[in-house]
Amino acid sequence: MDRKYIIVTGGVVSSLGKGIAASSIGALLEARGIKVTMQKLDPYINVDPGTMNPYQHGEVFVTEDGAETDLDLGHYERFTSASLSAVNNFTTGKIYRSIIEKERRGEYLGKTVQVVPHVTNEIKNRIKAAARQKNTDVIIVEIGGTVGDIESLPFLEAARQLRQDVGAENILYAHLTLVPYIKAAGEIKTKPTQHSVSTLRSIGIQPDLLICRTEVKISKAEREKISLFCNVEERAVIQALDVSSIYEVPGMLGRQGIEDIIIEKLGLKALKKGADKWKKIVDRIKNPATRVKISVVGKYIEVQDAYKSIKEAVQHGGIANNCGIDFNWIDSETLERKGAANEALKGSAGILVPGGFGLRGLEGKINAIRYARENRVPYLGICLGMQSAVIEFARNVMKLKGASSTEFDRETQHPVIALLEEQKSVKNMGGTMRLGAYPCRITPGTNAYAAYREKVIFERHRHRYEFNNAYREGFEAKGMVISGVSPGGALVEMIELKNHPWFTAVQFHPEFKSKPMLPHPLFKGFIAAALKNKRRGRKK
Ligand code: GLN
Repeated sequence: MDRKYIIVTGGVVSSLGKGIAASSIGALLEARGIKVTMQKLDPYINVDPGTMNPYQHGEVFVTEDGAETDLDLGHYERFTSASLSAVNNFTTGKIYRSIIEKERRGEYLGKTVQVVPHVTNEIKNRIKAAARQKNTDVIIVEIGGTVGDIESLPFLEAARQLRQDVGAENILYAHLTLVPYIKAAGEIKTKPTQHSVSTLRSIGIQPDLLICRTEVKISKAEREKISLFCNVEERAVIQALDVSSIYEVPGMLGRQGIEDIIIEKLGLKALKKGADKWKKIVDRIKNPATRVKISVVGKYIEVQDAYKSIKEAVQHGGIANNCGIDFNWIDSETLERKGAANEALKGSAGILVPGGFGLRGLEGKINAIRYARENRVPYLGICLGMQSAVIEFARNVMKLKGASSTEFDRETQHPVIALLEEQKSVKNMGGTMRLGAYPCRITPGTNAYAAYREKVIFERHRHRYEFNNAYREGFEAKGMVISGVSPGGALVEMIELKNHPWFTAVQFHPEFKSKPMLPHPLFKGFIAAALKNKRRGRKK
């Protein structure tokens, strides 16, 4: 069967939740037995988001094959079972890089290289290549940015041309817009949506489906108006009301029959509609049996998107334990003052230090970890959160003064975290870290083993520095447990502490593999330990 294409664009303003809308469509189609894959096209010129500051871009999501991608791929993997790789995300930078390389090799045979057809062909080829992946009936392609942006034009032009390439019956265009509520007038306004659709039409794309983000319900009359002016069937004007949990979105769109419209328009074979499996997840999130306070100590906490997968994974751990999460986001720099960690972390049922780069805020993280260790508060350290735990242990348990990572102090007397030999010669910043899934052997009898119940696991990495093996034996003698290592044993992947109820720190990023329906074992274990800690606190 021909592959089917769903192109998702956005209009009016950014941050409307295009990624969630696209993921929800994916989830709804999967629930009907349709195999989906998803792709994100990012119009910016960086080759990938790997070198971008989290303040600019939010989290960098890492796929199994080690691609550093847009955080929307995280939503795609959490909402669907599609397994994504480097082909599922590309940017203008990637497109131009390969075109320029081809031009230098003389592959264009002396022709003038132009946006149309060369850039648009390159874009279309990448979309089609992703669509050709195994186990795919439908590819959902989300185009980043907002209609009307200069930089997204070649992508929209490629999306327009694709209709001719693949056949009108095999492609559907969905457009996400904002229908704002004007308080003073007490009404919603459809004009921005009309304008957005008319801009899209001027590019040559007529949407088949409109998803309208709105604070208040859209009435029948307003729906008719949008339908008339935008030339979209009335039933295909879908409202996307603000909701408190992103996992409510599939149910909300599904109740309006969005996937039925898609199935019909694309002529897809589908199973009958079953019960909404997202309802259970949403109920768990909204009405948990109990709640715990989890403190996350990082340096990008002002940017909501910087710890997206961490936030979701912690919540999944909550779902697994029927427990709601009260997040306490702490800027690690505020914990540098003596005594600050005690004040800020009091009452935390669990403490988490996520990954990160650079010296700023490091001392605060170390203070938070010391607090967790000394007060027997469950701790989950991720990547830099593990490296900081090793530094903390070195300084405060081993009494190695000035112990550090060579990332922060090249001259340190005690480089407990250091570069691997093969990383020493690396000059380029982009795509040169230890990236993607690697196997890890778990030591039986550890928290890690209790969580995973498996001897060998695969987790995704994104780092340059490693635990320095010269310190391994000494640390073990003082109560550090090496709970996970690379198969040959050369790299320390997980550590724990004896004499602590639950102190687990990992060099990889477990948050990338957690799903609401399949909470990650470490997050499940972490929240279970936090719950125990809360109950113990009460008894005292
Ligand atoms: N900066 C550290 C390293 O490169 C940790 C990276 C991370 O936390 N993702 O090894």
